[in-house]
Order: sequence, then structure tokens, then C-alpha cells
Amino acid sequence: MRLFEPGKRFYKGNLHMHTTNSDGKLPLDEAAQRYQDAGYDFICITDHWKRTVDAHTRGRMLVLPGIEIDYFLPTQVIHLVGINVDESILTRADRKWGPQRGINAIRDAGGLAVLAHPLWSLNTTETINSLRDLTAVEIYNTTSAPPWNGDRADATGLLDMACANGVLHNTLAVDDAHHYNGDECVSFIMLQADELSVEGVMSALKTGAFYASQGPQFTQVTLEGDTVRVACSPVSRILFHSNRPYASDRCAQGKGITGADYTIRRDWNERFVRVIIEDAQGRRAWANPIPIPY
Ligand SMILES: [Zn+2]
Ligand SMILES: [Zn+2]
Repeated sequence: MRLFEPGKRFYKGNLHMHTTNSDGKLPLDEAAQRYQDAGYDFICITDHWKRTVDAHTRGRMLVLPGIEIDYFLPTQVIHLVGINVDESILTRADRKWGPQRGINAIRDAGGLAVLAHPLWSLNTTETINSLRDLTAVEIYNTTSAPPWNGDRADATGLLDMACANGVLHNTLAVDDAHHYNGDECVSFIMLQADELSVEGVMSALKTGAFYASQGPQFTQVTLEGDTVRVACSPVSRILFHSNRPYASDRCAQGKGITGADYTIRRDWNERFVRVIIEDAQGRRAWANPIPIPY
């Protein structure tokens, strides 16, 4: 199997950001302009409990209407992003009905549900794996890092545990931009769509035709037999995460390396592989986890 379609175009997008319609520091026009100037192909506006609507396109950049809804559990919070929801979301979702009904509400409003910043929220793997019908989980959330927060932006380890416990979620990198003083235009997804349209983006999100990134680019990730093979832009490290405790080929390192192989071990009951690449500046990209067939 392979994660990407050879030769097909990738589009760049940020699916989590706020405006002055909730607690963001910039009005919609200025927030969207930052992303347009940075060459993004699509964004989704996700104000807290508000559906911020824009024209569907700004220049050639697509703008999706979204929302962020949140729930309080005794030991954690749950924030859900709804991508491309219609206005019925405002009557379908309510805090008192809990997160699963929030996910259902997002889907009933025509949208796709994403679990936001699970490490920041202190979500457990039990919580993450109990939620049904999530399209993706945020593996990196820019604003959950210093100086805007403590240091809980990178949920890779947590999502590895969720995978090891049986649920392989596809992963997004997002900004969750609020401050617009450096928390914008940092973390994004690269998505292979048939065309830059609402339908094109939604359909590619559903099928997992994307990877999360802060800069490094995947060309291809394949699984053939027992070999996971990566081709990418020049990076300093290529990491292979899985549920097997030790593997001698888990980290390939070098100057400007553009590929590496990893051998899976079925006798060690290896169930998934997640590929992460890191460039010389420490910026990362995360491929969606690959299930190992038995
Ligand atoms: Zn949030
Ligand atoms: Zn947010």
C-alpha cells in the first residue's frame, strides 16, 4: 500500500484558527489575509461556539466555515473542531449533551469532526479511543507551545499509545491561531485533492489523503511486504514509530537524507507504523499511521 498518489498535486491548509468573533486577536479579514499572503490554499475558521462565515474563496484561497466546541470532564477537557459545518450546528450541539453527541452534531451539520490538542486537554487514550466518528486528531497544535502556553503542543507519544491500544487516527497539524504574533502560518496539512473546492478538500480529508507538517515534505510512504519505505524532501532525521519496544532501524539520521527503510516484525506483533521526518531546523512532518495487515 502507499499513502500518496504519485504525481497528484498537494494543497496546503490550516484547519483550526480563531478571529475576534471569539477570542482571536484579529478580525476575519486580517486573519485570513495572513494565510493568503503566506500562500495557503485553504483555511477553516473555527471560533468557539460561533460559526464565522466568509465568502467561500478569497482570491484563490478557499475558506471553510467551522466551529470549535468544548466539554468539561472531571479530569480533562475535550475540544472538538467541526470542519465545514452548516448553521444547524448552533442548535444541534450543546455542552450538556457531552462530546460524543458533539461529534454526531458536527456530522449531522454536514461537517467533519477533529479532536483538538489532546495533550493540552490531558485526554487519556481511553477517552480518545472511546470517541466514534472522528475524522482526525491534532498531532501538533502551534498555540499549545510556548510562549502562548506551556509545552503540550506535540501529541505524538499520546497518539502512539492510542494506536498501540487499537485505534489508528489520522493526524493533522494546525495552528489554532489566536494571537497572530507568531502562532499563525506554522503548522499545516498537505492534502491531495482532485481540485481545490469544498468537495475536493472534504473528500480528501475523509479518505486520509494528507499529512501533517511544519515544513518537511513527504513524496511517498509505502508498505510492501515487511518494508516501510519513505521518500521525502532533504531532512536530518526519519523516525519510524510503532508498538514494538525496540528496533535498530527506528531512526535514520544524516545530512539532507531523502529516504529510509524500516522492517516490520510480525513476530513482535507490530500493529502500526507512524513515520515522522525532521529537517535541520527541527521542523517536523507526520504521516498518517499505517496499519500492518495480518
Ligand atoms: Zn481548543
Ligand atoms: Zn482553538
